[in-house]
Amino acid sequence: MNWTKFGDEYPVEARELTDPEWRTHGEALMWSNGRKLDLHVPKRDVRRFAEYDSPVGIDVVIKGLLDKGWWRDDGDTWFVGLRHPEWQRTSEEIRIDRDKAAARMRRVRRHSKGDHSLCLAADCVRGHVRANVPNERSPERSGERAPERAPEPSANGMRPLVALPGKT
Ligand SMILES: [Zn+2]
Repeated sequence: MNWTKFGDEYPVEARELTDPEWRTHGEALMWSNGRKLDLHVPKRDVRRFAEYDSPVGIDVVIKGLLDKGWWRDDGDTWFVGLRHPEWQRTSEEIRIDRDKAAARMRRVRRHSKGDHSLCLAADCVRGHVRANVPNERSPERSGERAPERAPEPSANGMRPLVALPGKT
């Protein structure tokens, strides 16, 4: 999953854009981020995502974005990152995050099966300590809890509720 960020400055700066320009630029950013294009949108793609509700032609909309300094003509692509490119994640940042998430999931899965070869020491110990805390809601089952029921805090502090098999 990826996301597209619009900073607080966007509504004010984008007041100069017409509604179709505003929407088309937003859709271009989302198109770029969703396909990891690093803000270089193939020109032929624009008609596929431009769905504004206006009789204004797409050529006029693009010209407006070019003239107002939001887009740049880069030959086969429109570069749509002239304003605040730092708001969007690069494809490299996305790849690194994905790799980290995959490694975290592998660690959680192995930990839950009793294989601690990938565990980070602190997280692994915390997981076992929590697993051994008597369960207040069902005291009759306390003390014998299997470690796989213990949510394991990960490196970023988020706690995966379930180790779902998924695309990694
Ligand atoms: Zn472990």
